[in-house]
Amino acid sequence: MNRTTTTPSPERSTGAPRSGGRRRRTPRGALVAVTCVAALAVAGCSDGAAPEADAADTVVTVVTVDATDTVEATEVADTAAPTTVAPTTLPPTTLPPTTLPTTTVAPTTLPPTTVAPTTTLPAVLETREIGRSVQDRPITAVRRGTPGGRVVLVVGVIHGNEDDGVAIIDLLERVDVPAGVDLWLVESMNPDGQLAQDRHNANQVDLNRNFPADWGPIGVPGDGQYAGPSAASEPETQAMVAFVEELRPDLVIWYHQDLFRIHPGRGRDGAIRQRYAELTGLPLVAITGGTYTGVAATWVRRTIDPGVSFIVELGPTLSAEEADAHARAVLTVATEPN
Ligand SMILES: [Zn+2]
Repeated sequence: MNRTTTTPSPERSTGAPRSGGRRRRTPRGALVAVTCVAALAVAGCSDGAAPEADAADTVVTVVTVDATDTVEATEVADTAAPTTVAPTTLPPTTLPPTTLPTTTVAPTTLPPTTVAPTTTLPAVLETREIGRSVQDRPITAVRRGTPGGRVVLVVGVIHGNEDDGVAIIDLLERVDVPAGVDLWLVESMNPDGQLAQDRHNANQVDLNRNFPADWGPIGVPGDGQYAGPSAASEPETQAMVAFVEELRPDLVIWYHQDLFRIHPGRGRDGAIRQRYAELTGLPLVAITGGTYTGVAATWVRRTIDPGVSFIVELGPTLSAEEADAHARAVLTVATEPN
């Protein structure tokens, strides 16, 4: 069976550490908390105001309860003898509970600082843990831009030893995002492999042969393109599948190395690939020679209609200028839906 042979992939297919003095990148491991700064900030407006009202009500309530006898006494006093009954129901000893309202009111001094940023959206709208790796490292997605806009997902690393895309993700996490783009950034969907500078995940599976699109068995553990025991058998694949199915992105870009090219496509897909190639100087050249089952970009194209999804093969290294050009290209094609 051809599929069981180990055909060298045109993508970096060996597990050997990369040479050439390239930077090693450590997968982001700290961003595990699910936060929604935007939601908090927006909600902060009303939440910030509410406690004050609640606190005020609390004060009034406490006083009212304490004064119930007083009210009744006053009514009695109105109809009967005012001056004799009322004073007896206002003993100073019933007021000490005022120490409680004080502690209740105290938190209302916090909300104003939370409300302040609501005038502009924060640079990062949300950081979400979309899953965990075989070795229990978080796989995180960062959201920027315009919620409800054109959904664009960029994946920096899928093959662990092809991680120069991280530099592009780093830029995309900081630059201004054009209006109308709902930008999601997954720095690495293979943090274990990235840390080990290995193409595979920790189960020796090639994650870019593990997606449930034409999945077929390839190789054995450790082989360059080992596809895993079954489609989407790996937690990293499962995390990305679930995330993409929920997100339903209009465009997904996946970075690999180091063929320095973009495979040409047809139709809408082809146009955007060509545009990206023009913007970055990458040649549009066919990628051939491997066994392309279970490929992530293919799975997205078949799953998300009318989504566009393609692979960018960076070169062996990526200069700061090139990273900048790629980040700009992402934002340009993100704003040019075709
Ligand atoms: Zn690759």
